[in-house]
Amino acid sequence: MEPPHPGGHARRRKIKTARADRDALETPHRQKKSMLCLFDIDGTLVDTRGAGMDSIVAACREVFGDDGPPLDLAGATDLGLWEKLCAHHQRDIRDAALAASFFETYHRHLEHRLHAGDYPGGLIDGATALIDALVATGHAALGLLTGNTERGARIKVRRHGIDHHFPFGAYGCDHADRNRLGPLALERAARHHGRQFDPAATWIIGDTPRDIACARAAGVQCLAVATGSFTTAELAAHRPDHVCESLAEAVSRLTS
Ligand SMILES: [Mg+2]
Repeated sequence: MEPPHPGGHARRRKIKTARADRDALETPHRQKKSMLCLFDIDGTLVDTRGAGMDSIVAACREVFGDDGPPLDLAGATDLGLWEKLCAHHQRDIRDAALAASFFETYHRHLEHRLHAGDYPGGLIDGATALIDALVATGHAALGLLTGNTERGARIKVRRHGIDHHFPFGAYGCDHADRNRLGPLALERAARHHGRQFDPAATWIIGDTPRDIACARAAGVQCLAVATGSFTTAELAAHRPDHVCESLAEAVSRLTS
């Protein structure tokens, strides 16, 4: 048997201290998360003040030669919009080259508009405080559940400095039907964090009736926020689990 090392106790103490230090410094990502918050982007975290719609119209002009049909963006998915554009222009939605060309053009315009000197958009009031409050709990995992393509979503959150808070998500390039994005987001959250999240402790935070329907379809909770184009009364009519006037109000709902 190997004799005990003269410095054994000290070394064990050192290792113990190092472990305690590591635990104390452990990043929020490594801490065990018990709650999952899936955020919509437009009207919930970010208001591009029309830069998103302008980019779609600009891409339409470039690819189809006209402004395209009137579009309702609230809660829509980019693939759903693509279907409408193709129907309007009598083009095949399965035309992969056309889709690639359209989305490439759209992303270029979006990136350009969001970085233009006169870009009027920004984060929705209280977005940073809500994200910070959730991160501070140490048990909230954050992800995206948005109708934007993944690239469009990344352009928007990166532009507003919150990209690093959302390491995974389900996007409008995954399905045209937003109601199919919930299970995907749960699956990607489980893969990222190495554990399944309880649907009862999973929240979709969004500003439209489509976010509420999406949460219902996935069997998770919905916190509707009247930070976009719908009032609390209009959102309440769709029976979310909670409705908040502002993101400041959402802090107490999600962290208490
Ligand atoms: Mg929205």
